[in-house]
Parts: sequence; structure tokens; C-alpha cells
Amino acid sequence: MKFISTRDLSHAVDFKTALLHGLAPDGGLYIPSEIPRLPPDFFSTIDSMDLHELGFQIIKLFLPDIPESILQKIIEESLSFPIPLKKLNNQTYLLEVFHGPTLAFKDVGARFMARILSYFLNQEKRKISILVATSGDTGSAIAHGFHKMENIDVFVLYPSEKISRLQEQQMTTLGDNIHVLEVLGTFDDCQKLVKQALLDDNLSRHRLLTTANSINITRILAQIIYHSWGVVQLHQLGEKRKPILSVPSGNFGNLTAALYAKRMGIPIQHFIAATNKNAIVPLYLKTGKFKPRASQKTYSNAMDVGNPSNFERMQVLYQHELSQMQAEITGIPISDKETLETIAKTYQATQEILDPHSAVGLAAAEIYQQSFSSNTQPIIVTATAHPAKFQEVITEALKQEIPLPASLQKTLNLKKKTSKILPNYVEFQKILIK
Ligand SMILES: *Cc1c(COP(=O)(O)O)cnc(C)c1O
Repeated sequence: MKFISTRDLSHAVDFKTALLHGLAPDGGLYIPSEIPRLPPDFFSTIDSMDLHELGFQIIKLFLPDIPESILQKIIEESLSFPIPLKKLNNQTYLLEVFHGPTLAFKDVGARFMARILSYFLNQEKRKISILVATSGDTGSAIAHGFHKMENIDVFVLYPSEKISRLQEQQMTTLGDNIHVLEVLGTFDDCQKLVKQALLDDNLSRHRLLTTANSINITRILAQIIYHSWGVVQLHQLGEKRKPILSVPSGNFGNLTAALYAKRMGIPIQHFIAATNKNAIVPLYLKTGKFKPRASQKTYSNAMDVGNPSNFERMQVLYQHELSQMQAEITGIPISDKETLETIAKTYQATQEILDPHSAVGLAAAEIYQQSFSSNTQPIIVTATAHPAKFQEVITEALKQEIPLPASLQKTLNLKKKTSKILPNYVEFQKILIK
């Protein structure tokens, strides 16, 4: 299995190169040269399949060179928490991908990438530094995913006093190989420092450097597993019709993984690209024009993305044909007002508390159901985060506070370990070389 650049389909590298570099030299993203099909006998066993077996069956097709016993262990450790499918009403299901350590789906990709990376580094006795600039959620998933992994140092940069206390506590209290730098500046300053370091030849002579955001194909591969797991669970519940998947989207890594699941042969009818008012992809699906712009702030802030990075991967999948993409994906943007209403309405009807991102997914699913009312296919909404991570929004929607899960409560009492730095490259470089 080779991996190729979205910008030059003839530029092929092995998986390890795609993993270590993240981005292709031409600036494109790596994608599998072909999407492997699950073998026909796979489907005769799905009624008794569990999450780990499913994950193994999927990933070994992409990474056939990793010994099976090692791959099995990596999958068990990466998916060490349940990913249940909950029935919300006759037609709608929630796939809860937020029971990991930082209570959002990003744990899956981060944990998987950390372990795969560690496997390759151990083989070569090399060390790597991972640099991540974060405005909140990615940093904590990466910090937890990579905590105590051998041969890996993580440097997380976040803008001082510009993230929530919960987010800050989640990533700054780990220590060990997780080095958290509180930058006295903005998120853009953090990102600039990271980019500068990644391009610094002097530094890369000292050690391997990379980053771990969702441009890395390794994270996407891991996410194929849970979308497939949602469909398998639906089957196990006795619902044999093909579902529609509604995926709350920002950079569109999550939706890309779902599209790959279908290409592998997982029975999926259609996709809903649910966004907030940063509706770049829904607008593209409507007008054929892809117009990135500055992101606008919303209640579903992890989806405030004005230039979705994985759109390139989607374009290649549909051979840059708008009509092909339209045939499989419906884009539906949701306002902040609709997000709050959906949280309130769902709570009243089912006692289920949705986080604002999952609420965007459900609101889009409901709009889809209303506009195609003859369609009674089941819809699976990806529930991307635990509501307790977004206390302020929930309080506004429900006029009541919700209790923090014990794990978060505990985090709040731990001591923060950070170094403060000015947004100054020389200072950052000194820390990296130490
Ligand atoms: C990152 C994130 C998203 C968006 O996922 P993409 O893969 O970037 O589309 C949605 N919800 C939550 C809670 C997130 O953290």
C-alpha cells in the first residue's frame, strides 16, 4: 500500500514517510493510493464482531507491513473505551465517540497515531519531537494520546489566557514527555512558531520534528474504525437498512474517514456534512465554488474553520467532479440559535444532553429528514464531544448546569505545569534544542 499526494497522484511514498512528514513536499495531503475493499467473508461475521476485531480487520488492509500481533495491541490500546450507538428515536441514532480521556473523538486518532509512531521509532531507535499549536481541543487530545510514549517529546503551544480553564487543565497537568508552553500572544503566534520550527534546518539536524494535526493520514485511518463500528452496531440491533451518516464538520477529517468507510464496502446510503455558519463546504455543494475565508466564532467552536484542510482529500475521492460529490453528500449549515434549540428540544424529549457540535449534527439530520420525508432510512449522528466540555453553552440552552464527570473534576484540582514564553522564535528554539 502506497500513499500519494492529493496534488500529484504520481508522487508515491511508503506509509512511514506519510506518517513522519504529515504533509507531502508539494504541499498536498497524503491519501491511500487506493481504498482497499473489505473481503466478502467480512460481512458474514459482523453480527458477532466487536470493536477491536473490526478495527484490526480495517487497519491491516492499510498497514499490511506491521506484524498482526502488534497491530492488534495498538488497536486495543487506542480504542480502550466504549463507542456506543444510542437510539434517540425511531429513525435517529447517536454514535458516542467521546468516552476517551479528553472526552472528544480526537482521542481516537491521537492515541492511534502515538502508538503507530512509537512502533516505527522503536524499530529505528530514533527520537521525535511533535509540535502542536492549539486553540484548545487538539492540544489536550494529543497531550493525553502521547503521554509517556517512548522516544516522543511533545511540545504544545497555546495562547495564554485565551482557552477555557477546563481545556487548560486537561493539557497542562500531565508532565513527563509533555511540555506545555504558554505563549504570551495569540493562537496565530503559536502557529507561526510551530511552522518556523518545522522549516528550520538547523533544528532538524538535532532531531526529527513533526506535527500531529488532522492533516496526518494516520489519524484519518483510525477514524474509519468508529464510523464502521456505528454501522455494524446498527446491524447488530436488527436494523438492516443502510444508514445515512450525519457528521459535524470543521476540517472535514471526520467526514473524510466516513467516506473511506463506504469505499471499503461498509454499507452507507448517504452523508450529511453538518457545519455551523462556517459553511464553506455546504456552499461549495450548492454553488460549485470553494471559497475559503476567515473563520467566524460560534458555539461549536471546534468547527470554526474557514479553510477546511481535508477538502483536498474529498476532491480527489470524487475526481474533482461536483456532481459526484453532490450525489453522495448533502451540506447543511446550522446557526447558533438552531444549535441551542436542538440541545433544549432533545433534552426535553429524551433527557439526552448534547454538546453543541453533536447538536449541529442532529439539527442537520432533522432538516434532512423533513426535506426528504419519504425517506425513512436510519440516520447515525456522530456525537463528537461530551457536553460537560461546553458548560457555558449547555447552561444557556438548558438554563441549568450539568455535573462534571469525575475524571474532569479530578483534572481541575491538579497543578498546572507550563513554561511561559514570549512569541519569539529564538526563545522557542532554545527550549527545543535543550
Ligand atoms: C475537531 C472537532 C470537530 C470537527 O472535526 P473535523 O474532523 O475537523 O471536521 C467536531 N466536533 C468536535 C467536538 C471536535 O473537537
